[in-house]
Amino acid sequence: MTEQNKTIYLDNAATTPTDPAVLQKMLPYFCQQYGNASSIYALGQRSRQAIEEARQQVAQVLGCEAREIFFTAGGSESDNWIIKGIAHQQALRQKKHLITTAIEHHAVLHTMAALEKEGFEVTILPVDKNGLVRPEQVAQAIRPDTALVTIIYANNEIGTIQPIEQIGKVCREAGVLFHTDAVQAVTNLPIDVKAQQIDALSLSAHKFGGPKGVGAAYIRKGIRFENLIDGGQQESGRRAGTENVPGIVGLGEAIALASASMEAKITHESQLRDYVITRILKNIPLCKLNGDAKKRLAGNVNLSFEGIEGEGMLLLLDAKGICASSGSACTSGSLDPSHVLLAIGLPHEVAHGSLRLSFGPQNTMADAEAVCDALEEIIPRLRMMSPVWEDLEKGRTKSVLASL
Ligand SMILES: *Cc1c(COP(=O)(O)O)cnc(C)c1O
Repeated sequence: MTEQNKTIYLDNAATTPTDPAVLQKMLPYFCQQYGNASSIYALGQRSRQAIEEARQQVAQVLGCEAREIFFTAGGSESDNWIIKGIAHQQALRQKKHLITTAIEHHAVLHTMAALEKEGFEVTILPVDKNGLVRPEQVAQAIRPDTALVTIIYANNEIGTIQPIEQIGKVCREAGVLFHTDAVQAVTNLPIDVKAQQIDALSLSAHKFGGPKGVGAAYIRKGIRFENLIDGGQQESGRRAGTENVPGIVGLGEAIALASASMEAKITHESQLRDYVITRILKNIPLCKLNGDAKKRLAGNVNLSFEGIEGEGMLLLLDAKGICASSGSACTSGSLDPSHVLLAIGLPHEVAHGSLRLSFGPQNTMADAEAVCDALEEIIPRLRMMSPVWEDLEKGRTKSVLASL
């Protein structure tokens, strides 16, 4: 590969490359330490020990006890299990009201829709133009029959970070359980589930340098919830099935490594983020930053360009070896643009022209410069071909962005 067509990966919110140090830690658990963790001989017990070490590593990062951690197959599974598992138990006590926000990941929103079909009532809190939920909104929405509040810690599209500690306080005071999808937050923000009064939390290894297909659910001890899979005694009998030992070992190592370097990672990624935001807003007209300028994930850039179709932009970036993501429809296989961008008040056409760049620790300032160079060429080129842009230039229509 020449330098010119080397891949520049700016989609770390979608997934991250597995850290080679994490892979090294996993490898022995395939061909050498392959024992079943439920077997009593030493080969099996070494797998058991590796799983319990990983559980300890996760618990340490979250500030909870190891027995409050359950391994799963990823963020979506953790979200589904926690929400359905708690909701079904609460329903036995006539609590069938759920609270969430309009900017959740589909793993939460579609779980809510499924529960609605079962007879639960769901309140979906709106967010402000930066994607923030106020704790008072949560307080006002809580009812005597509220079973669970679930709010995303940091948004995967626009990077907005919620006031989780204050929301935790509101829920605890009202005696309502509080879950947060922290898939984007873990190892990117300091978390302490006890201090933040979080009752349940979802995380996923592949978002912080771990392998795909493994995650964890933190569920505070004493909370009643349904088992996910009945069968053997794995995961305290709550999620049966022989454990994914290499995956779990990888999750433990990844969370420990990424947490240890969190400060440096935040400093580095926010430098790249701020460089791109400042340069693009300065050099490209009719362009807007989505999400909160300050309460924002260090690696997240989300921009909307007037008169642009997201897919075209992504294809031209890909031709330059740049991997990015858009809030546009076709990339997600549906007709509507991102529900998150619509929830912060963007009109459909603006949401369609949005771009998400998400930096990771492996990215360099040269990557940030390269994507700016590319956008400064691609955006004017696409706009020249756009009838929408022509109407705008000729004054036949008004700018949608300028009127926001
Ligand atoms: C990626 C992601 C998920 C889903 O995690 P998987 O491990 O891919 O199932 C859930 N929530 C958020 C916020 C995410 O970014």
